Amino acid sequence: LGESRTLWELIDRRADLTPDRPVLVQAAAEPSGDRTLTFGELRDRAERVAAGLYERGVRPGTVVAWQLPTRIETALLSFALARLGAVQSPLIPFLRDREVGYALRESKAEFFAVPGLWRGFDHTEMARRLCAEGDNGINVFEAYASLPEADPAVLPPPPSDGTAVRWIYWTSGTTSDPKGVLHTDRSLIAGGSCLAHALHLTESDVGSMAFPFAHIAGPDYTVMLLLYGFPAVMFEHFALPASLDGYRRHGVTVAGGSTAFYSMFLTEQRRLPAGQKVSPTLRLLAGGGAPKPPEVYHAVVREMGCRLTHGYGMTEVPMITMGAPDDTAENLATTEGLPPDGMEIRITDADGNELPPGTDGEVRLRGEAVCQGYLDPAQSADAFDADGFLITGDLGHLRRTGHLVLTGRAKDIIIRKGENISAKEIEDLLHQHPAVGEAAVIGLPDAERGERVCAVVEQRAGTGGLSLDAITSYLRGEGLSPYKLPEQLEVVEALPRNETLRKVLKYKLRERFSAPSAPRER
Ligand code: ATP
Ligand code: MG
Repeated sequence: LGESRTLWELIDRRADLTPDRPVLVQAAAEPSGDRTLTFGELRDRAERVAAGLYERGVRPGTVVAWQLPTRIETALLSFALARLGAVQSPLIPFLRDREVGYALRESKAEFFAVPGLWRGFDHTEMARRLCAEGDNGINVFEAYASLPEADPAVLPPPPSDGTAVRWIYWTSGTTSDPKGVLHTDRSLIAGGSCLAHALHLTESDVGSMAFPFAHIAGPDYTVMLLLYGFPAVMFEHFALPASLDGYRRHGVTVAGGSTAFYSMFLTEQRRLPAGQKVSPTLRLLAGGGAPKPPEVYHAVVREMGCRLTHGYGMTEVPMITMGAPDDTAENLATTEGLPPDGMEIRITDADGNELPPGTDGEVRLRGEAVCQGYLDPAQSADAFDADGFLITGDLGHLRRTGHLVLTGRAKDIIIRKGENISAKEIEDLLHQHPAVGEAAVIGLPDAERGERVCAVVEQRAGTGGLSLDAITSYLRGEGLSPYKLPEQLEVVEALPRNETLRKVLKYKLRERFSAPSAPRER
């Protein structure tokens, strides 16, 4: 099935193979509210929705943005668009006017599907407001109240070219404004195949989707379900312990999420009496997308009695490397795993010269799962090197075994008096300080030194005062070179994070603390 040219071909072949097996289970607060869709129903209903959209004017190549939560209807709409060969631009439901307006304008969306009133927010009202602003009159429709359906006889044949741009995904906007990333059906199938390849699951597994379906992990995960033929439980509002009922009812064995997701499970586990498991059937947490401290790996394995594999991905390349569940604990705890066949990783210096194993450099990638570029042609031009490798902006090295170790981001290097300082190195040490919850180290413009090192930390509840002196003497004690010591400390209630993976938004910290009026520790 992994050879399928398009997503529609993949779903069609899977539905022929196992039409009656469930693929998506919507977990509701009450068991009576649970809904199940089989592979056969997914194909047949998506085809009817495609016909309904066709009657409303959606054609192959029409750009349709959708901002919808993790629900069966979202999958139906997305597959319907794949059937039509439309270009879809998924938006995370938590985004508001600024980001949504930007994405709609940049992608030149002609249709915009919204959930109506969702979690107390009127998406239709926002959509009408934003779409009225433009002169191209975007057609807004509520996808849940009235997912259009019609007789598939009206439809043109499904697309056959898997290498046409059919997806515009948006990056998290961690380092700058979000970038529109162009994907094809083939690149998404390749990403999902990589995930499937690494995880060694079986037909009797049951997955869980607690992340936004609009995230690039959505198709990744769905492709995996189509390849294996097992179901995933979808949570529109994932929360612990409430969602664990859904885990029990449906026997979830493998759950996807980010580092914050693992921590939620650990917190829950620590509330329980010894010997009792958070979820008796859960055997694998498989996530990625953000750094994972090795302690988290060990705590999950020890306390939850569950395996954890963590991968490296980005909107541009949904899955780059993934830990295999049967790899050694050392590799699983300290690396991002191995790349699958067909993913080439090159570690280079700034000029693009390849570096040997063990040496840190820029991570560059080439392979079928890599995006076609960005919506903005100027960004695309800078994104690839002469050999066609994507320049990721991430830093790391390869071990001799081929395992990838990420060490930070190029934009996260602080250059103080001409010396490069890795924010991650300092953060890793700060995370081991008993009074520090989460830490983010940033470079701030400094007339004298170019940049100065500023540590922004969340204080752990119930711990004593954190001061710049206390922090610097601790870091000195840990052996950090004096030129890397923070010169500014900011203690904050909560670090600014994005809604998708709870990633720390360092550019917001830079904006906030670069201001001359920002309060200083000393
Ligand atoms: P933007 O590109 O808009 O600045 P972003 O890069 O955070 O935002 P995403 O595409 O959501 O947007 O995130 C991809 C990035 O997340 C990677 O380039 C990498 O820096 C980081 N990342 C992903 N997986 C891991 C991981 N396992 N460990 C550490 N960092 C990771
Ligand atoms: Mg990025």
